[in-house]
Amino acid sequence: MMSSTATSRKQLLTASWVALIDSTIRRDAGVLVADGKIAACGDASQLRRDHPDAEVTELGSAIILPGLVNAHTHLELSSCAAGESPTSFVDWILSMPRRIGREPNQRADALFAESTRLGIEQCLRFGVTSVGDISQQMHVTRPLLRASPLRAISYGEVIGLGKRRSRFEELLPMAIDDSQASDRLTIGLTPHSPYTLEPDAIRRCVTLARQRQLPLAIHLAETPDEEEFLRSHSGPLREMWERLGSWEDFPGTFDGTPVQFAKSLGLLDYPTVLAHVNYCTDADLDLLAKAQATVVYCPRTHRYFNHPPHRWREMLSRGIKVVVGTDSCASSPDLNIVAELRLLHELAPEHAVQSIWKLATPPTPRHADFTVFDVSSDDPLRELLESDRVPGEVWLSRDGTCIRFSKNG
Ligand SMILES: [Zn+2]
Repeated sequence: MMSSTATSRKQLLTASWVALIDSTIRRDAGVLVADGKIAACGDASQLRRDHPDAEVTELGSAIILPGLVNAHTHLELSSCAAGESPTSFVDWILSMPRRIGREPNQRADALFAESTRLGIEQCLRFGVTSVGDISQQMHVTRPLLRASPLRAISYGEVIGLGKRRSRFEELLPMAIDDSQASDRLTIGLTPHSPYTLEPDAIRRCVTLARQRQLPLAIHLAETPDEEEFLRSHSGPLREMWERLGSWEDFPGTFDGTPVQFAKSLGLLDYPTVLAHVNYCTDADLDLLAKAQATVVYCPRTHRYFNHPPHRWREMLSRGIKVVVGTDSCASSPDLNIVAELRLLHELAPEHAVQSIWKLATPPTPRHADFTVFDVSSDDPLRELLESDRVPGEVWLSRDGTCIRFSKNG
């Protein structure tokens, strides 16, 4: 299925366009790679003259982009099917065991492993070379990620509330176990959400992340029910716990919004990645801006749940960092990150296309990971947002060499 060709240590990739996004888009350009790192980017013929010893690969009528980033997904759920939009968020959560679709005699680990493999394969097919992966099956997903060509932060997910409080203690040591860490796999931690953990547990996660300098993430302000749950432990999310037979009240309601709640627990005083933030007030935006927070917006998942318009453009204009994610295949048709950008382009056609691409690319690409699309127009970034093209190939830097990893079609 995939072919890999190792080449020399000084390499020059040229194409009709190079856009490393942080800088200007260049025509008839090239990227020079030395020891697996981006060493220079510029005019193709100039780079050829300056580096006659580099091995040149001409990619022709194409655009070289940095390897794309999917900042929020759950690879272990990649064999789920989103299907029609659910009647409510709680119904969707309660439908998860059915969506995961474990056969009577199938071992859970085998199912999650197969799902994770599918997810990794999809990432590469759609040009994603870095993922923020949320995982509750860390013992399954981490060895697979470690062996895969992807760069990943594996956020070990912890949950546990009410009668299921003890689940938190079981999951926590597994979540922060770094025995699978490598130069491409970073171990992170994610307290799942304000409605699946008690405040003390979230506080402990923040403290641990701080002590061990772990990447930290949380699902925040995803549904309108979250605030009601925080304020009075009532509403649809309380009913969800009751339907699961696990409700038991715990101390600590919070009189405020989910974003204010996050602030009160120290989550905004740490570079926590906040998934969704679909519901926020003007005052919340102020808090997020002051914290220089990072928000992951998952456009197709957002549409699937019929949330009101996301405030991503206001966030960007206030200096809040916004990145995109696909979320899982249980709420999104696939892990095609460019399809997320296409939806944003459709929702905000006046928004600069280069700035849309920024939401799925690293701020300062250093690793020589590239996603290459065939293009034919004079406005290739727009052309790709207005087509349904998939990448022609992906190049990944491994062990000091940039390797052509896949050639689609
Ligand atoms: Zn998620």
